[in-house]
Amino acid sequence: MPPSVLSKTNFLYGLQCHKYFWKLLYAREEIPPVDEATQFIFDQGHEVGNLAKKLFPDGIDIPTDDFQASIRITKEQLSSGRPLFEANMVAGDICCRVDILNPAGDGAWDIIEVKSAASVKEVNMADVAFQRLCCRRSGLKIGKCKLAYINNKYVKKGEIDPAQLFIIEDITDRVDAVSDGLQEQVEAVLGVMSQEQCPEVAIGPHCTSPYSCPLQDKCWEFLPEHNVLALYYGGNRRFELLENGIQEIKDIPDDFFSNEKQRIQQDSVIKGEAHINREAIRLFLNRLQYPVYYLDFETFATAIPLYDGTHPYQQIPFQFSLHVVENTGAEPRHHMYLAEGMEDPRPALARELKGLLGDRGSIVAYYSPFEEQVLRELAGAFPQYQGWVDSLQPRMLDLYRPFKSFHYYHPEQKGSASLKSVLPAMTGVDYDGLGISNGKVAGVAFLAAERGSLSEAEREVIRENLGEYCGQDTSGMVLIVNKLTEAAERLL
Ligand code: SF4
Repeated sequence: MPPSVLSKTNFLYGLQCHKYFWKLLYAREEIPPVDEATQFIFDQGHEVGNLAKKLFPDGIDIPTDDFQASIRITKEQLSSGRPLFEANMVAGDICCRVDILNPAGDGAWDIIEVKSAASVKEVNMADVAFQRLCCRRSGLKIGKCKLAYINNKYVKKGEIDPAQLFIIEDITDRVDAVSDGLQEQVEAVLGVMSQEQCPEVAIGPHCTSPYSCPLQDKCWEFLPEHNVLALYYGGNRRFELLENGIQEIKDIPDDFFSNEKQRIQQDSVIKGEAHINREAIRLFLNRLQYPVYYLDFETFATAIPLYDGTHPYQQIPFQFSLHVVENTGAEPRHHMYLAEGMEDPRPALARELKGLLGDRGSIVAYYSPFEEQVLRELAGAFPQYQGWVDSLQPRMLDLYRPFKSFHYYHPEQKGSASLKSVLPAMTGVDYDGLGISNGKVAGVAFLAAERGSLSEAEREVIRENLGEYCGQDTSGMVLIVNKLTEAAERLL
């Protein structure tokens, strides 16, 4: 049964795409389930929301489990003059839950929307504008619109201090700015709600912004293999090409390109072979000093910091994989560390890594600024490692560079220089069969396994998957360097 009133969440879906919104209501089975990383973001949002309530100790929680009861209790409590959490406002055919409705004097109320992000985003304005419209239609006098979001400069010391963790920003002016035309937008989405047929919507920038739409695979499947949406840094202009009837990268006119890498991509697609800048690759490979250490960290990052001395969204390393190649062509040796439990994983991880990295030889990472940042933060937290971390810096080598610079580009990379694109394109080894296939899921899976809510058997499966995933990142780097070496030599 479709809902009889339009909620704020559904309005925002409808605002992004009428088709997606309709499918949500009438063909939900076509929408893929949310992945673990997205579910983690939702769950974290609830945790953050609960913490924000502590900013208003005399606030009243409106129950969320019974829709009708929550409307009644909200009405009753509006006369209490106290802050209301999750106030349920219904006005005709629209409704919303207000995170915090805070009395502002003179009979007015401030709307405070709580977000677990560390910045204010444009999509937050439409979100709050809808709430304000709903509240005003219910007869409420609204004062300011505010956003409570995470202060990522906050450093945990003992108990979390909500007053320091949150930044509360007045966004009334920005909400005003998006409120022109809001009524029409609401009417349009309400119109879709009562439509029997799914509206036709052409693909466009709305497929990726403000959120990546989960129906992309379905809606984009009519496109040919090397289509313009895979154009490197194509941005929204990619969709202009489609509007002009150009679907294939090979057909993009030369004057469209904004950089040389896009030309290399097109050339590589047309020729059906990799573009190889032999000289640049040889220069890169010449920098490798044996033994070579291929290093990858897995990290998690939480909005609410877990350990003293850390800040929101700090990357906390809990695992590393290290493949060591002693000499050119030698078989790699593999080492791995995976923390257990929810104790701060960093001291043991640093100790273990220090014992393995030796004092000479290149340390190769794919997008090494990330590994370097993790190492710097380790040294910041545990000063006894400062000298060691400083000594690693000159040994670091970024394997991402030859691909970012398009010194090597394979048409199967489809416009991406990420490890997940480069490895399958060069070697045929992909991440499809793995239980964990990206770093975000790895972090979330680790937290799920070690926070103690799973059975021992489930935990073991996750730990095996983590080992396999992180190990593939570093064994993949070894394969990539071998392939680069072959490619450079073949062209000599
Ligand atoms: S992929 Fe694009 S067109 Fe298709 S439902 Fe999603 S946003 Fe709409």
